[in-house]
Formats: sequence, structure tokens, C-alpha cells
Amino acid sequence: MADKRVFLSLPQLSGQEQKYIQRALNDNWITSGGPNVTDFENDLEAYHGNEVFVAALNSGTSAIHLALILLKVKAGDEVICQSMTFSASANPILYQGATPVFVDSETETWNICPESLEIAIKSRIDKGKKPKAIIAVHLYGMPYKVDEVHAIAEKYAIPVIEDSAEALGSHYKGKKCGTFGMYGIFSFNGNKIITTSSGGALVANSKELKEKAIFYATQSRDEAIHYQHSEIGYNYRMSNVCAGIGRGQMKILNSNLESKKQIHDFYVDLFTDINEITVFKSASSDYNSNYWLSTILIEPNQNINKDILLQAFEKANIESRPLWKPMHLQPLFCNYPYYGNKVSEDLFNKGLCLPSGTNLDDSEKTRIKDVINKLFKE
Ligand SMILES: *Cc1c(COP(=O)(O)O)cnc(C)c1O
Repeated sequence: MADKRVFLSLPQLSGQEQKYIQRALNDNWITSGGPNVTDFENDLEAYHGNEVFVAALNSGTSAIHLALILLKVKAGDEVICQSMTFSASANPILYQGATPVFVDSETETWNICPESLEIAIKSRIDKGKKPKAIIAVHLYGMPYKVDEVHAIAEKYAIPVIEDSAEALGSHYKGKKCGTFGMYGIFSFNGNKIITTSSGGALVANSKELKEKAIFYATQSRDEAIHYQHSEIGYNYRMSNVCAGIGRGQMKILNSNLESKKQIHDFYVDLFTDINEITVFKSASSDYNSNYWLSTILIEPNQNINKDILLQAFEKANIESRPLWKPMHLQPLFCNYPYYGNKVSEDLFNKGLCLPSGTNLDDSEKTRIKDVINKLFKE
């Protein structure tokens, strides 16, 4: 019999989800909002030291969209976005009819490059358009250069939307990711560090902004007995059933983070003697990644490159995947302005994501080891 497929990252259940889902069913509260949603928001706020205000939504993408709406980004405006990311960071800019301006990465964190960011801001201002927001991403859970990026944002008075979709539990200089920006966002999609099946959250720094986000997320209903609307509304609120899953998931967030770190250590160990491969890790103790996915760079030579490695894994029924393809190289986005060099392009050409599921077991690790030993040690 063929070996079972090893996936990049599968959800891990705590066993307590059922209890909270059952509560939603018992209460006959299976629509959006509700007691589980409020409790899940409280859990997330408590996890972040009760220093922020969290609105639970139906996806991370909706959270980014609402952040842009709260910042009054409109048609014709420009928004800076890290180029190396998942398309969901950039799509909401187009939803608003605004123009994305993409910025390259730097090599230490793989995230938005402060130098290229400042060049981009100056250039757009020279062209007569000051960007309305900056979307910076903690890719693969690795914090971006928070101090540098936020210093530039402050210098030009441009708000930062912190795409922390992959970075729940990461921290920078001891402060949790998702809490640095004017707005932060999380995703609880099936493959993220915890899941609500599908879901996300917007992090705001005041109760008023949280409530405004919920107002937009629930169809912008004005206060009236009848349905009355003076602003565009959205159906973006998290369902009470999904929030039940989220409540159960919060119980294993810390153990998931530990497992992710152990998987990262497994890869560091596996690749120590292989010169062509470097495991992506924190540049210094300031950067604490949740290692949502373990990733590597392969320096190509005549025997090895990322495609050869990907195919070798595939033959053993093990999933690996190239890094996010930068937005400025995507057919949808390639005609928008781009500032940078070829850092993100180079990362894309050399990088792979490796199986990082918290449920990765010893026999699966052995299969991964075997592929590597066969390629490099024989
Ligand atoms: C997953 C992800 C999103 C979107 O989250 P969804 O919940 O899937 O809508 C946004 N940005 C990044 C970087 C992501 O990885």
C-alpha cells in the first residue's frame, strides 16, 4: 500500500470544540454573532493582555477589507502593500477601487523592506499621491522589522495595517504581533495556527473602532426599529458555530505553538550538514516567530534546486510548496507600481514550505528524513 500523504499543515482539534458547538445548537443560536462569538473575542483580547479590542469576522480577508474601509480608503487612493504575501493581503485594495503599490522584501525577515518602503512613499508623494495606508505582513509567522517600518510610517503619518494572519502567537521584542498597527488582522482559516473552519478577526486599539467594525460587518444598520441604512454594509461577522470551534481551539494555541517550534527544530537539525539548504529562522532574539510553516531556501547547483526537492517529496507522497509568489509578478497585479529589487523574486525562486502540521508524527518525520538522505547523503 502506498504511504499516506503528508500534508503541509492540517488542523489539529483539541476535542473541546464539540462542547461549544453543542452550546450554539442548544441555544438555537447558529447565525452570526452570539455568546460564543463574544467569548471568543474575550479569549483573544485576554491572550493579547487586554490591550486591544477584537472583532471576530468570517475571514482574515474581510478583516483587511474592513481595516481599509475604517481608514476611508476610496476609489483612486493608493495603498502600499508588501509584495511577497498571499493575494488576500492585496485583493481588498482592489475591492475599494484603490491602487496597490507593491514593495519588496528584505532578506532577514522576508518582509517589507524599510528602505524600499521609504523610497516608495517619497516617490508616490512626488507624484502627488500620498499613500493612505501600509499593509505589512508577518510572513510565515516571522515578525517584520516593526521598529523600522513603524518609524517610517510615523514620519510620513501613514497608518499601518498589520497582516498578522499567519502570526498569531508570534512576538517582536516581547510584544505580540497583531497589536502594533493602527489595525491588526488574524485569520482562522483551516490551515492557520488555530482555526474556526473559516474565520478571521480585526484588532483595533479602541472599543469605538471595534464597534464600528462590527457595525460595517453586520450590514451597517442604523439605530431604528425598521431596517435603515446610511452607509454600505457587509456580511462579515463570524458565525456563533464557527466561534465555538475557535473557543475549543484557544485551549491548544500554546501547545500548537510548542509543536511548531519543535518541527522547526527538527528541520534545523535535519539540514545542519547540508550546505545548499538554510532553514529560515529568526535574525535575532527580537524576532520570535510562531513558525507557522517551516520554510527553507535551496541554493541551486547542477544537482539540486527547489523543483528537484519538491519532486522528490512528491514522489514520496509528501506535500511541499514554493513560497508565496510575489504580487508584482502575478498576472492580476503586475501592472501596478512596484518598488524594490529582486529580493522577493529570489526568495520565490529558491524557497520551499515543508510539512509543518502540529500532528506530524515520527513515522512521517522519518519519511521526510529518508527523502533528504537519499538526495544528499548517498
Ligand atoms: C490566510 C491569509 C490571509 C487571509 O485570511 P483568510 O481568513 O483566508 O481570508 C491574509 N493574509 C495572509 C498573509 C494570509 O496568509
